[in-house]
Amino acid sequence: MVNKLPRVAYFCMEYGLDSNFKIYSGGLGILAGDIIKAAKDMDMPMVGIGIRWRQGYVDQYIDKNGYPYDTYHVYEYDFLEDTKIKIPVEIRDRTVWCKVWKVDKFGNVPLYLLDTYLPENSDWYITGQLYGWFSEERIAQELVLGVGGIRALRELGIDIDVYHFNDSHPLFAGIELIREKMDEGLDFESAWKEVKENIIFTTHTPVPAGNEIHSHKLLQYMGAYLNLSQEQMIALGGDPFNMTVAGLRISRIANGVAQLHKETACNMWKDVKEKAPIIGITNGVHVKTWQDVRIREAYEKNEDLLEVHQNLKMNLIKFVKKRTSVKLDPDKLLIGFSRRAAPYKRSDLLFYDEERVRPYLESGSIQIIFAGKAHPNDYTGKGIIANIVKMSKRYPNSIVFLENYDMEIGAMLTKGCDIWLNNPRRPMEASGTSGMKAAMNGVLNCSILDGWWPEACEHGVNGWQFGDGFESEDEKEVDEHDAEALYKVLFEEVLPTYYENKDKWREMMKNSISSTMYKFSAERMLKEYYDLMYTKK
Ligand SMILES: *Cc1c(COP(=O)(O)O)cnc(C)c1O
Repeated sequence: MVNKLPRVAYFCMEYGLDSNFKIYSGGLGILAGDIIKAAKDMDMPMVGIGIRWRQGYVDQYIDKNGYPYDTYHVYEYDFLEDTKIKIPVEIRDRTVWCKVWKVDKFGNVPLYLLDTYLPENSDWYITGQLYGWFSEERIAQELVLGVGGIRALRELGIDIDVYHFNDSHPLFAGIELIREKMDEGLDFESAWKEVKENIIFTTHTPVPAGNEIHSHKLLQYMGAYLNLSQEQMIALGGDPFNMTVAGLRISRIANGVAQLHKETACNMWKDVKEKAPIIGITNGVHVKTWQDVRIREAYEKNEDLLEVHQNLKMNLIKFVKKRTSVKLDPDKLLIGFSRRAAPYKRSDLLFYDEERVRPYLESGSIQIIFAGKAHPNDYTGKGIIANIVKMSKRYPNSIVFLENYDMEIGAMLTKGCDIWLNNPRRPMEASGTSGMKAAMNGVLNCSILDGWWPEACEHGVNGWQFGDGFESEDEKEVDEHDAEALYKVLFEEVLPTYYENKDKWREMMKNSISSTMYKFSAERMLKEYYDLMYTKK
């Protein structure tokens, strides 16, 4: 049978395929990894394009004063397949050669990774640290990913119908596609119009600072204009050049990563003229990667979920003991919270009014494990982590901070905790996928109605919400409101259910799994990508 599905090249700065394959940082990469695994399961004609990061994202530990510090390692892998292909990209008027590696050993469709660590390059360090640098070096990395990615596909002889840019980092791939058409003799407007038909764009963060902006002077100096003029580049990304705006203008259709996020994104970019329509395709996770097989089996055979969960909780408790020497109590409620330490995620909301939680933390009837990294240059984020570490010293038997958050910790926590806590300042969380992993393992979400959760939450049935979707410009007002709501749901609903009504807890676990296992799977997400975006109507 002829496969008539469009052939897709998926571009992303990072991929989370395996905990020890350090070419990811967080949510964006996990999403990309899950997508290329789902594409393999579903036999979809897709390839991934990314970067072979030598040092990956930062490794972050806590020093003896309780403050985070950063380290970097060079990671070598024996499973990268050498395609023997090398392609040139002009950066700062110098030729940078990019070697192309292939990876397909994680149950994924082929992933091609660009690598500048070659003796012939003076700028060999470009593919060193993921999100390690800003400005010039970030643009250099994005030129490798975008321009290098298109040239690699050409050299590999892979025909592509649809180019999907996951967030704006791959944007220069679009400029390269326009350049190709202009080289064939088309004028700029016609070239833009033609390539637009084949480009799909996914926008992510609603945090303004998360959307990259560059000056034209710098772009020109870096060689990011390719053969376009300043006027043409301004037509795409404005002045200064906004990568997300350009993404929205260079694509046929774009998506937000949850239904609420679609509204937020439409609102955020409403003044951008001539942009692609933004639809909502809610993220999903690769079930085989994130759902424990024992829970899956118990669910399918209608066995006691709590009994199986208790084993997974014990695994986690042993893991914590080994890493921190803290011994948590398996019979007491265990909350998980792992997030990048960004202020809007409010990692320490639980401590908003410490007096209120103190008795529970002292008695151990609430235990909580935190994990998460701050970006190396984010001192506010590092301060948040230091504060959590301080709390863990104040309540050493009930609060744990796990260092160097990675996929392994992510999986352990979303399988072994009882409650998954999520309290961003709405509507700043675009989607959030850790809550989906938790839900599929019968770990009950207790979350603000942000990101994906409004689509899934049946309060008191498959988890809990708090805050009732409250929003305000006044951050202090929201924090106070949400902290109050968190205490109320925790003390009056979660704790009584856990300690006094295990049958209801079992029932909720079952509802949590049944309401999320398909609806928030990467498979459902990928079907929607094909139906609503890749295939032209
Ligand atoms: C799932 C996962 C994420 C994304 O989770 P969020 O809900 O977006 O915070 C980030 N990092 C790791 C290691 C993960 O496993």
